[in-house]
Amino acid sequence: MLLDVTLKIIAYLRTTTRLRTLSLKAQKIKCCEVGCMLNYKDDIDLIQFKFCHLPQFLPPKVQKGRFKKVSLKRIFYLSIIPILQRLYAYVKFARDIK
Ligand SMILES: [Zn+2]
Repeated sequence: MLLDVTLKIIAYLRTTTRLRTLSLKAQKIKCCEVGCMLNYKDDIDLIQFKFCHLPQFLPPKVQKGRFKKVSLKRIFYLSIIPILQRLYAYVKFARDIK
């Protein structure tokens, strides 16, 4: 169990380091724990999910009068368009891709 968590942390750090070196940024999208929907664009500020009616955020922790909404689950989306644009920008690699 602890080894799995450690391996996941190492994989996460490697991935974020690679993304940073390529200067690509992943988009964080809030989603339901059960998997019924993604909260994207117009649905970002919903308190509950539309279909399962589970809460979207953890109960607020009041700290000095301010609190931050923390979502229960989120995914990281990495668009393929900037990756392909960079790949095809190098003529050397573009010849091998066809
Ligand atoms: Zn749901």
